Amino acid sequence: QEQISQELLLNQSKSLAQKDWTGTHFEWSGRVREVLQDVFKISEFRHLQLSAINATLSKQDLILVMPTGGGKSLCYQLPALVSQGITLVISPLISLMEDQVMQLRKLGVGAEMLTGSTKREENTRIKNLISKGPASEKPKLLFVAPEKLAKNKSFMSFLQNLHRANGIARIAIDEVHCCSDWGHDFRPDYTFLGVLRDLFSDVPIIGLTATASNKVIADVQKILNLQGCLVLKAPFNRPNLYYEVRPKTAVQKDWLEEVADLLSAEFKGQSGIIYALSIKDTEELATGLRERNIKAGWYHASMSPELRSKAHTKWLEGKLQVIVATTAFGLGIDKPDVRFVIHHSISKSIENYYQESGRAGRDGRKAKCILYYRFADYFRLSTLVFAQQTGLQKLSHMLAYCTEPIKCRRELVAEHFSDTWGQGDDCKSMCDHCRRPRSSEQVDVTKHCISVYRLIRNALENETKLTANMLFDLWYGKGKPALRLKDIPAPTHSREYMENIVAHFISEGFVKEDFNFTAYSTTSYLKINTAGQQKLDAGYRIKTIVAVKAKRPSSPACEVNGKKMKA
Ligand code: ADP
Ligand code: MG
Ligand code: ZN
Repeated sequence: QEQISQELLLNQSKSLAQKDWTGTHFEWSGRVREVLQDVFKISEFRHLQLSAINATLSKQDLILVMPTGGGKSLCYQLPALVSQGITLVISPLISLMEDQVMQLRKLGVGAEMLTGSTKREENTRIKNLISKGPASEKPKLLFVAPEKLAKNKSFMSFLQNLHRANGIARIAIDEVHCCSDWGHDFRPDYTFLGVLRDLFSDVPIIGLTATASNKVIADVQKILNLQGCLVLKAPFNRPNLYYEVRPKTAVQKDWLEEVADLLSAEFKGQSGIIYALSIKDTEELATGLRERNIKAGWYHASMSPELRSKAHTKWLEGKLQVIVATTAFGLGIDKPDVRFVIHHSISKSIENYYQESGRAGRDGRKAKCILYYRFADYFRLSTLVFAQQTGLQKLSHMLAYCTEPIKCRRELVAEHFSDTWGQGDDCKSMCDHCRRPRSSEQVDVTKHCISVYRLIRNALENETKLTANMLFDLWYGKGKPALRLKDIPAPTHSREYMENIVAHFISEGFVKEDFNFTAYSTTSYLKINTAGQQKLDAGYRIKTIVAVKAKRPSSPACEVNGKKMKA
């Protein structure tokens, strides 16, 4: 019997969760095995696949949570061939649907797809084939874009007619976290899917996602009207991934040197991804790496589909060692031997970081995830995400992950997802902190917060708002003399050390941001949180953990073909 974590019981009814879905005693069990081997040419199920298939064939509504590459698609593709009627698959990306339709057709399975841009004749052909076609030619799966449902009454009416004729076997909602803005990829059209549970009341729904957080799952259940439904969740620890956070220099040239060195030594002959924040960054960084003899390409959403697909293919074929991409390079990437994922700047949230870095090491061999952190990057992101409902809160979790001085990176992610590790499944020195444990101490940083408050207040009295950068300049005795305060001495610690402390004030809410628009950009100024000031006035002490000796951890060599590579 598969393990069920205690927390998951919060999301679902106990009797469902405790039922054994793994068996081969169901009326469809023989047929399931046959289809697995004869159609999909697969000999064994992976973890949770059989349970998910049995549950959905039992007409249970279900949410399946499995890491990317875990094999979620099979859990609706296979039942589609066992059930009467069509399986409706809702998916957020046309490229993801195209890939699946192509693969299914190669296996001899009838599959069609409809999106907002499907031509009228094609639309009619597919609808006719589904409702009036000869049984042997009727497609078993129909892939639809969410906007096709949300914005197309005639299509909804087609589905209702089909349903009256018992023609819909099941509804699969891929990347189901897209309906929650707690996830990392909110799509407004997905919220419309909440009507499906009522409209097609006897049709089982299966939602699939790689987003593990219980908060997101609960939100998805609420939005889709699947409260209490069965949740099957695979373990999320990726034991073969090495996680590391490195400080990023302010000078781009130095970063390029460091990364070019990494790619031509430790990662020589290996393939990977560098994630960058902006389109401009991807092109600049890739160009900089090329100038340093690295075969680098770029990938972002403003390229034409042809150019994007060309870059993707060159990378898949190994003609490019690295692709420098915005997060547009993501969903649907299925290259098993990605040996490194480097982040040039922090992600928007821990969910995003887990997804993006998780594209490394799909083949199960060791791979490295290196995140370059610089305090200034936090503000580049905060000005992008502040308008999203939970944007700043999620970003502050990411900030806390980056500035955490000692704790295991894996443990931080696990805590975030309220995940339970499998028994005895620890980090095994596969993160920077576990590899080089540092001593730490708790320090009282209240006086620093008071200094920050005073500098901000003094600037305001001089009709100036402070960005974080301006604040640090003043604190260290630079910047406008009128804004400096003589009785606030320059910190004795490094700027990096003090930045971590101010990062703590931000993630704990003592310092807030004040966003100001110009025609071309948004600027984040620091402001005092009145509630924070009141706490300090009442004698509250702010404490935080710092590493005693900040030493950069060295990283282990990666394995290539079973042999250790020298760094
Ligand atoms: P996900 O949607 O969970 O990211 P996919 O469904 O795209 O993952 O599957 C990833 C890959 O794993 C695909 O190439 C798929 O064919 C393969 N796969 C799925 N299940 C199995 C299995 N039981 N045995 C071997 N390969 C599998
Ligand atoms: Mg998938
Ligand atoms: Zn660790």
